[in-house]
Amino acid sequence: FDQRDGVIWYDGEMVPWSEANVHVLTHGLHYASAVFEGERAYGGKIFKLDEHTRRLHESARLLDFEIPYSVEEINAACNALLREQGFEDAYVRPIAWRGSEMMGVSAQQNKIHLAIAVWDWPSYFDPAQRLKGIRLDIAEYRRPDPRTAPCKSKAAGLYMICTISKHAAEKKGYADALMFDWRGYVAEATGANIFFVKDGVLHTPTPDCFLDGITRRTVIELAQRRGYELVERHIKPEELDDFEQCFICGTAAEVTPVSEIGPHSFTPGEITLTLMNDYTKEVRPAKAEPQKQMAAAIS
Ligand code: PMP
Repeated sequence: FDQRDGVIWYDGEMVPWSEANVHVLTHGLHYASAVFEGERAYGGKIFKLDEHTRRLHESARLLDFEIPYSVEEINAACNALLREQGFEDAYVRPIAWRGSEMMGVSAQQNKIHLAIAVWDWPSYFDPAQRLKGIRLDIAEYRRPDPRTAPCKSKAAGLYMICTISKHAAEKKGYADALMFDWRGYVAEATGANIFFVKDGVLHTPTPDCFLDGITRRTVIELAQRRGYELVERHIKPEELDDFEQCFICGTAAEVTPVSEIGPHSFTPGEITLTLMNDYTKEVRPAKAEPQKQMAAAIS
C-alpha cells in the first residue's frame, strides 16, 4: 500500500506517495496518540466533509492534542488532494498524530502532524455478497466502558480490539464481527454501526460508548423522511432472535444488509433495501450543482 503513484498531503505539502513516511520512534506508533477519519467522495464531492473534519478535531481534543490546522484548512486540503489525485469516487483518510521529538508516555511538546491520503476503495464488502447480506461473528472483545477509554474519539488505539475481532471472524469465514458493549448490550460492528427491523420498526443501539457514526445519523434522517418509526435503545443479545432484518452502516461499509449474526439469521427486506437505495442517492451530489444552476439561470 505504501508504494503507489500519486501524492499524499503531509503537513501542508503534497509529498510523493512512497515518501510519506514517519520515524520509528513516533509517539503515535508507540503510544497510539493518533486519530483519524474515513470519508468518501462521490462524484467529486466529499460527503459531509465538514462533519468529518469537526469530528477529527474533537477526536484529537479528547486525546489531549490540538491539530495545528483549522477545520477550513483541512477541508480545503482534502478537496485539493482529491482534485490533485483526479478521483471522482474515492476514500479519504486524514490522520493526525504525535511526532517523535520525545519518547515516553508524556510527550506534551511533540509536534502534531497531519496527513491525508486518497485512494480508490469501491466496496468494503464483497459486492455480490452484499445484497444477500453479510455474515457476522460475535466478537470476544467488548466496546470499553467510557471510564476506561475516550470512546467518542475516532482514536487509532480503539481499533486494536476491532482488528483482533475482525481477524478472528474472517478466519472463521465471517465478513465481520458484532461487538457487545462493556455491559453486554449489542454495540456495533468493527467499523460500522448496526440497525435492526422488527414489525416495521427500526431499532438501533444508543451510542453511549461507541461512535455515533455520521452514516448512522444520515440513516436516521433518511428513515425519518420515509416516516419509519425508529427506536434508539439498549438492545440485549437475547433479542437478536426476534429481529427480522439487520444492516450495518458506515462511511466505508455504506448501508450493508446482514444475513447472520452467529446463530441468528435475518432476511434483507423492504426497509433495509429502501434505506440502502436512499443512502446511495443521498451521497451523490445532484448532477448540476446549485452554483452551476445559478450560472445557467444568469446567462
Ligand atoms: N463505528 C466504528 C468503530 C467505525 O470505525 C465507524 C467508521 N468510522 C463507524 C462506527 C461509522 O462511522 P461513520 O458513519 O462516521 O463512518
